[in-house]
Amino acid sequence: MKIKEKCSLLIDQLYEKHILHKEEYLFLIENKEICKDELFQKARETADQVYGKDIYIRGLIEFSSWCRNDCLYCGLRRSNHNAERYRLSEEQILYCTDTGYQLGFRTFVLQGGEDPWYTDERMESIVRNIKKKHPDCAVTLSLGERSFESYRRLKEAGADRYLLRHETACKEHYEKLHPPEMSFQRRMECLNDLKRLGYQVGAGFMIGSPYQTVENLAEELLFLKKIDPHMCGIGPFIPHKDTPFKDMPAGTLSMTLFMLGLIRLTLPKVLLPATTALGTIDPMGRELGIMAGANVLMPNLSPGDVRKKYMLYDNKICTGDEAAQCIECLKKRIEKTGCRIVTDRGDSKGGNDNDQI
Ligand code: SAH
Ligand code: SF4
Repeated sequence: MKIKEKCSLLIDQLYEKHILHKEEYLFLIENKEICKDELFQKARETADQVYGKDIYIRGLIEFSSWCRNDCLYCGLRRSNHNAERYRLSEEQILYCTDTGYQLGFRTFVLQGGEDPWYTDERMESIVRNIKKKHPDCAVTLSLGERSFESYRRLKEAGADRYLLRHETACKEHYEKLHPPEMSFQRRMECLNDLKRLGYQVGAGFMIGSPYQTVENLAEELLFLKKIDPHMCGIGPFIPHKDTPFKDMPAGTLSMTLFMLGLIRLTLPKVLLPATTALGTIDPMGRELGIMAGANVLMPNLSPGDVRKKYMLYDNKICTGDEAAQCIECLKKRIEKTGCRIVTDRGDSKGGNDNDQI
């Protein structure tokens, strides 16, 4: 059988059954240039069946650039002494959510480095007050690894969702991306805890992170199928000049788009963002991401004066714009894809409600 025919067959099978064997995923990934258009068409069709043409927006508030961790890929790592550090007060965060609310946002994502200044008491107060002011909004947290008790308290305070990318499904690979004090097992425990506590959980990983192989990518798909997250954040790795990975190549547009398509067919109901990192490696990255099956965008609501300081990677886009400008720009961009931005909470229509990863 010709390669193209075999790819078509596998894509049809994935479209129908939502799972392939590792070797089959691998075959598609290795022949992605031959079958990408077919994949994207089926992936977009699947997203349309589940979510229609709706694209959900989440307002991202990058509230702290302090981090006690030292992930080798990240510009906020503690060893980067060139990083400019800031913290937003509760008042500043509430100002961002008020602005966002007026612009139509109904989900806020609070993301930051692992910053111990944000104790459980402080985070609880922030979450409670956002929910008090905007009871119709969902609050998503992305603050890295915390204790079960901490996750429990934040859930109790009103947090609805939690994003914690697993970064890689392979323990050996995880160890190449992180310092020895961080562990794959701990990451998995955290994801487990979050699920048990009833959060809608977002996992995810970078495309083209250093030492990642195509086998790793095939394994990611099987791993995602197993843990069945409500959301999956993927974007290209982009080197940051002040990290040990500064000379490593960035992940590519074509591999990121292809993986978005495969994820959409593997987990039809998953919330799948077209990330800022994707928009950074290509000016049309986010639109192309939508065409490949993504259905979420996360525009920046952080105050203008801190945006340039939240540099996970080099050349991040939208660091000079106001929130209102961002949303107008995105609306126009998305219209061109035939989709439309909607402003409801956009809860997940799927995800595994088992309490185990
Ligand atoms: N501190 C939290 C949240 C902030 S980092 C945490 O680590 O979970 C959010 C995500 O940014 C990380 O999960 C990682 O996948 C991504 N990221 C970090 N450095 C990056 C880089 N150089 N290129 C692309 N994505 C990066
Ligand atoms: Fe800190 Fe998150 Fe960056 Fe790791 S990826 S250094 S935990 S901000």
